[in-house]
Amino acid sequence: MSEVEELALSTPAAIKPPVDLADMAHKEFRDDDYWRVIPAYANLGTDEFNDHRFQSRNSITSLKKLQQVVGNLVPDSFYQDVEKGLALSPMSVRISPYLMSLIDWTNPATDPLRIQFLPMGSRMLPDHPELALDSLHEQEDSPVPGLTHRYADRALFLTLDTCPVYCRFCTRSYAVGLDTEEVEKVHFGAIVDRWEQVFAYIESRPELEDIVISGGDVANLKAEHIEYIGDRLLKIDHVRRMRYATKAPAIMPQKLITDTGWVDALTRVVDKGRKLHKEVVLHTHFNHPHEISDISRRGLNRLMERGIVVRNQMVLQRGVNDDVETLHLLIRRLSYINVHPYYTFVHDMVRGVEELRTTLGAALDLEKQVRGRTAGYNTPTFVLDTMGGGGKRNVHSYEHYDRETGIAVFTSPTVRPGELFYYFDPIDELDPLSAKRWHNPTERKSMLQAALDLASCP
Ligand SMILES: *Cc1c(COP(=O)(O)O)cnc(C)c1O
Ligand code: SF4
Repeated sequence: MSEVEELALSTPAAIKPPVDLADMAHKEFRDDDYWRVIPAYANLGTDEFNDHRFQSRNSITSLKKLQQVVGNLVPDSFYQDVEKGLALSPMSVRISPYLMSLIDWTNPATDPLRIQFLPMGSRMLPDHPELALDSLHEQEDSPVPGLTHRYADRALFLTLDTCPVYCRFCTRSYAVGLDTEEVEKVHFGAIVDRWEQVFAYIESRPELEDIVISGGDVANLKAEHIEYIGDRLLKIDHVRRMRYATKAPAIMPQKLITDTGWVDALTRVVDKGRKLHKEVVLHTHFNHPHEISDISRRGLNRLMERGIVVRNQMVLQRGVNDDVETLHLLIRRLSYINVHPYYTFVHDMVRGVEELRTTLGAALDLEKQVRGRTAGYNTPTFVLDTMGGGGKRNVHSYEHYDRETGIAVFTSPTVRPGELFYYFDPIDELDPLSAKRWHNPTERKSMLQAALDLASCP
């Protein structure tokens, strides 16, 4: 008998080795007074801190406010670095006390929450030469202001242009947030008149069965607006599915506990939809396991009790969640609190966040390591929203991808048949020789053409 055969006989094949209890970290939900390390929050009790009104009123919106709150937890050089970062950023800053408290201020440079919400000039990289603002062409697919109708049976309704926090990586930096020095935004006010145009358009298109109610973030809609929009859409016979999109569970879970009016309004729309045999769900946006604490668990339990389905769309970000351990932990922790991991997005090509983007290759490798770890319905589909309005594509479905030049080419048969769409890896992730080619305009042109030629066979 060979050694392998002997081993096979001595170990019963069906018994798995016991798991390491350290592998159960996804069930640990932080429940200490973690905010007390922040000088400005040191004296706050649980009830005060865990109130959504406290959270919104005390969000950090400027460097000055940041300094007042964090004080001497970080050296002056850190504040200077952030000042440089802010000057280079297209997005305004807005960070909830909840997120502020979960950042490790002894090491902010590499903290996954700091990276997502607060720019540090010293860590930023020049944008990719092929990058554009509104790289997804949402404005071009917009038949009425605040509605993007790109896919056959569904549309994206931008109800307002503000969010409870601003993410550095936001795709909608063309419209969301206060004006910064960098971008003069196209404004969508929360105006019922404008919404009426959107409803009229949806009514006129019988093929629209699925409406994404987004923004901005619907957490900033008043409870009566949540219900008004929901009721108005439920009345449209052909609308069968709706999703409210909010980051609140991830960045201000207190909302789900203390904003009873808002949660009740949402619940009424979901219940009414159910009686009409229409699906109304919540889509949210967790990116890192540190964003999920005991208050998140309690908030999501409340939604579970009310029969509200929650799905998660995450964005892959370098240094935040682009390693398999972090991804597994995030997916398992979300699953544990009944949030379905729906999508993992490859970072869009947006300005001022080049150091956050990963390569397509990184996404391909991570997908292979993630699939199969847990239930299929709790395994995110890895997608990439192509530049130029081709829409979301499965990362594995490229027509051509060259890991050396970092150029990927996709087709989009259901959205824009017959066209080709690019995605570009961040140049600093390429090998130095290929990176150098990008700095030469003639080389650049020939790399782009070569990729198209290789892709356009079918
Ligand atoms: C992502 C998106 C949708 C929804 O697409 P799903 O794949 O069904 O989640 C709808 N409209 C636009 C413009 C989108 O970007
Ligand atoms: S919550 Fe969404 S819309 Fe608002 S800044 Fe973040 S990614 Fe953009």
